[in-house]
Amino acid sequence: MTKALTPLIAGNWKMNKTVPEARALAREIRQGLSPSRGVEVAVAPPYTALAAVADEIAGSPIKLAAQEVFWEKQGAYTGAISPLMLTDVGCHYVIIGHSERRQYFGETDETVNRKVKAALEAGLFPIVCVGETLEQREQGRTFAVVEKQIRQGLAALAPGQGERLVIAYEPVWAIGTGKTATPDQAQEVHKLIRGLLPEVAGAADLRILYGGSVTPDNAGELMGQPDINGALVGGASLKAASFLGIINAAG
Ligand code: PEP
Repeated sequence: MTKALTPLIAGNWKMNKTVPEARALAREIRQGLSPSRGVEVAVAPPYTALAAVADEIAGSPIKLAAQEVFWEKQGAYTGAISPLMLTDVGCHYVIIGHSERRQYFGETDETVNRKVKAALEAGLFPIVCVGETLEQREQGRTFAVVEKQIRQGLAALAPGQGERLVIAYEPVWAIGTGKTATPDQAQEVHKLIRGLLPEVAGAADLRILYGGSVTPDNAGELMGQPDINGALVGGASLKAASFLGIINAAG
């Protein structure tokens, strides 16, 4: 039970928003944020809009996140973005291992681990995503799948680095489907993850976010669970009103 942690609400805009659209959304969120609700807020626009959104949120408490990173520092890796490029543009967080990266772009626990280490080394704060598919849940393998993702994705970190991690539990069957895990279903997996973190990451008090069709209506109940410390929000982060509604429900 780790409720003393400041909740984090992070919006993953995925492959949405042109630069002018991203600027407008960032501005609306900034203007709508009530001061000092005790909730940390981050937005993850697409790469093309990172600089513009950094500009829009400058001087506000909103933190900038990237949706992905490559582990190499520089070189002939066409299309890739390095950790240094992300810190350079103002990113604080980087999402690593999202299920869409695993599903469509060949992300594995091994590549997650390389990216986590490179991001930490560059001073970024990784938001590491784990979660089971519907088939894995129906086969009763949820705990085994999540434990493997945590153990392999966070393997062999340097001492002290684990403290900078955020974990996001995102059941794949709940992402973008409108199906949310019940608070009990989410809590039992969050508790499992919490129990693994001291051994695997050398830190117990990390924020563990829930992700999967979070809305202003279900956020409060999810956030009321003892081991849920915020949310990673996809669809509902694309409109300021619903994203702000989730932030208010968390505070
Ligand atoms: C996500 O992709 O991280 C996510 C949780 O999406 P959604 O909120 O749309 O389910």
